Amino acid sequence: MIAGVLVEVTNKNVDKVFSYLVPEKEKTKIKIGIRVQVPFATRILEGFVVELKENQKTSYTLKEIIQVLDDEVILNEELLQLGKKMQEETLSSLIYCYQAMLPKSLKAGGKKKVSKKYERVFYLVKEPSDDLNERQKQLLFRFRDGPKRKEDLKDVSLARIKLLVAKGYLEEKEEEVYRNVFSIGNKKRYSLTEEQQKAVLEIEKSPDKIFLIHGVTGSGKTEVYMELIENALKEGKQSIVLVPEISLTPQMIERFSSRFGSRIALLHSALSDGEKYDEWRKIERGEVDIVIGARSAIFAPFKKLAYIIIDEEHSDSYKQENNPRYDAKEIAKIRAEYHNAKVIMGSATPTLESYARAKKGVYYLIELPNRVGGGTLPNVKIIDMNEAMRKVQGHFSQEMKEALQKTLERGEQAILLLNRRGYASFITCKNCGAVIKCPTCDITLTYHKSSNNLRCHYCGYGTNLPKECPNCHQNALKDLGVGTERIEEELHTYLPQARVLRMDFDTTNKKGAHAKIITSFANQEADILLGTQIVAKGLDFPNVTLVGVMNADTSLNIPDFRSSEATFSLLAQVAGRSGRSLKKGEVYLQTYNKDHYAIHYAAKNDYLSFYKKEMENRRLMKYPPYYYLACIKILSKDEKLCYRESLKVKKILEKYLTSTILLGPTPDSIYKINNVYRFRIILKYKYQENLKSVLHQLIIHYARSGKVKVEVDFNPIHV
Ligand code: ADP
Ligand code: ZN
Repeated sequence: MIAGVLVEVTNKNVDKVFSYLVPEKEKTKIKIGIRVQVPFATRILEGFVVELKENQKTSYTLKEIIQVLDDEVILNEELLQLGKKMQEETLSSLIYCYQAMLPKSLKAGGKKKVSKKYERVFYLVKEPSDDLNERQKQLLFRFRDGPKRKEDLKDVSLARIKLLVAKGYLEEKEEEVYRNVFSIGNKKRYSLTEEQQKAVLEIEKSPDKIFLIHGVTGSGKTEVYMELIENALKEGKQSIVLVPEISLTPQMIERFSSRFGSRIALLHSALSDGEKYDEWRKIERGEVDIVIGARSAIFAPFKKLAYIIIDEEHSDSYKQENNPRYDAKEIAKIRAEYHNAKVIMGSATPTLESYARAKKGVYYLIELPNRVGGGTLPNVKIIDMNEAMRKVQGHFSQEMKEALQKTLERGEQAILLLNRRGYASFITCKNCGAVIKCPTCDITLTYHKSSNNLRCHYCGYGTNLPKECPNCHQNALKDLGVGTERIEEELHTYLPQARVLRMDFDTTNKKGAHAKIITSFANQEADILLGTQIVAKGLDFPNVTLVGVMNADTSLNIPDFRSSEATFSLLAQVAGRSGRSLKKGEVYLQTYNKDHYAIHYAAKNDYLSFYKKEMENRRLMKYPPYYYLACIKILSKDEKLCYRESLKVKKILEKYLTSTILLGPTPDSIYKINNVYRFRIILKYKYQENLKSVLHQLIIHYARSGKVKVEVDFNPIHV
């Protein structure tokens, strides 16, 4: 037997399937989709078996597979097919597509093998009898509702348990256990409102396959998802729920887990390799019915999918920003088609692309315009900072200070957002004006005050804050950006009695730190939650009646065609955190651009007007959803070569892509990363038949050359 094996040959973006003989001893184990170890030149590599055929006569002798690495297939038939479609869509190599679908320990060459974890479990095998003392009986009673691990019995010594094993009451077994990743909450269950019920029925009854729920913040979308999932579960069907970032959604997970208990698997980046492996196995064996996770959870290997739910559909986290540049929403559609499942996207501020499709009837549109329980949307006040800053120093307008004070006096809580998009904290020299940049990337280093160091957010380079300016050697370095720490200090001078919780990159990088802050705020152990973008996401605190945005407009300054949309969405989302119960909420937006339509419509929570205005801009500027975009990057360590080849690429594209608008080449927004220079060419097109094949040939051509690399990003998030 001969096996075709797909291996990852370092950094060459080319796929090749190599043939190997299957040794006699491995014949029963080998299957398509399993991992094998093979000799490759002078090395030993791991790869996936992608085809099997009978022996043929070849003119050369084939090498033998060294060994089969798995007991069970890693890439099932669906995933094998999906990888091929993903390759066609992204023009990435097939092996990268397969690798991207799998948790680390199941990737080919995922070096460190994670093993199953075994643990001691104790079973009750004989009811307590009178030759035991009272304490021993009490202990045994605790086993009546099921076997226990030592960890479940923290107050009991191992010796006491062992004694009961020796006496024949308990039996000890070694069992494969899953590393537990979350505890089960106990939220009460609601009966659906009429609006929610209607949404559920429409989705269940409609022959459509893709739905968009446009529901204001607090309209009860999550409850709709759960109802659908539960009904599917009764028919033995499974669901995937995608969220932007799972560590940011502890409240949602609590609601799911209290309703569905251990039928849920969580997939997210904070899990250890072992935990991820466990979750994956549970999914594959059908031991769970629901997966909640960030982008890559779209690949959860369910076999009977009913729903793929994409919550906060507008989030840019669903697009992977490196190779393979896949869009989880597109993958969802492919998987849904395979399973005859339904895709449900939900958001209070859908992307223009999705809303436009829904308007055209490509997606089935469901509107949830009201908050559950009659809660009303908050009043929003725009504060003109050009005006305010003439009267006060610091970053708080008088109105904002007073509003905070009053909220605290009423015993209610506030959320303060520092919009840090496009606004990093950096260090400049007051004397010569130099900024400190990364030595290998053309980008300013970000200052982290708590650790007093400078970090490059692109390559990870880090250094301590120097004492003097590296340029003029004066002792004049100054922190120019405004960080949450600075705002917190200022806040303490106005409201010394206020209890403030800070939530940003620095305070949440430890596992579980984020959930802790949220729990503490939910328990009203603090009055003000101060943070960056992450405070805007899906949180639900009934006692919050004030939301303040320190700087509504910094994100408008990003040179990106989506900056208005991103700003509108952020402001509408954060405003939605206020007044979620029957208490009336307020929102204060501090801005230097009070007349900008993104700010204006966000303040009125008027999605539709924003949508119309922004669509008009996009049409005039030939941007999505009127045109498709693709971004081609030409990369090389040799700056001159990089530019020359960029011009050549442009020529070729001009020749073959006759219905496409070409812009560039221009230096990329970050001109150099890790000493690699970057040029880009932007493509705008409505329909270009040979697009993929032309670009694919270009990529392959340069992959062979080695000195220059060409990458393509379809529907890029940032341009
Ligand atoms: P969204 O996801 O649209 O922002 P949620 O599903 O989080 O909205 O619901 C908002 C709030 O309303 C939550 O606190 C939720 O528990 C509550 N809620 C949702 N549906 C109902 C219902 N049918 N009856 C009572 N409360 C509900
Ligand atoms: Zn760097």
